Amino acid sequence: MNTVFIALGSNLNNPIYHLEKGIRDINHLSKTRVIKRSSLYKSKPIGPQNQPNYINAVIKVITHFEPISLLDVLQDIENKHHRKRIKRWGPRTLDLDILIFNDLVINHERLVIPHPEIINREFVLVPLREITNHEFIIPKYGKLIQYI
Ligand code: ATP
Ligand code: MG
Ligand code: MG
Repeated sequence: MNTVFIALGSNLNNPIYHLEKGIRDINHLSKTRVIKRSSLYKSKPIGPQNQPNYINAVIKVITHFEPISLLDVLQDIENKHHRKRIKRWGPRTLDLDILIFNDLVINHERLVIPHPEIINREFVLVPLREITNHEFIIPKYGKLIQYI
């Protein structure tokens, strides 16, 4: 069984709907359960500023999927939410990023774990802190609380 933290973000077409539905979609994957979820947080866009604010959340999941297979099924879910990839960091209905996968450090061309921006993004760190304990360690980076 793998323990995984996933970041969700949306800023288009009813973001709260996409986040809530995205969490349900992940919970419905085979051999996968969402065991914790953060509150929903508002954040300003990164990259292009001429787009709506975001809603973000982080969930804790247990799953039998291996890392690349999990990326594949998460991208399927993004696609079902009609995510269009037009420009980097552009507006989107649903973004699903794998933050942490067990204690793995992966540098694959399709998948970097822990997520390379994890320690730089308040909209990830704050919800992650909400659903973990004070001593939580981010693989490769160390204690979460030092970054907040
Ligand atoms: P950012 O990664 O800076 O948050 P983004 O989420 O907008 O940007 P996407 O367009 O969702 O970027 O994804 C671009 C590519 O990032 C994906 O095709 C995927 O292969 C790759 N990727 C690398 N590491 C991860 C990860 N940890 N989780 C999800 N995708 C990843
Ligand atoms: Mg992202
Ligand atoms: Mg992404």
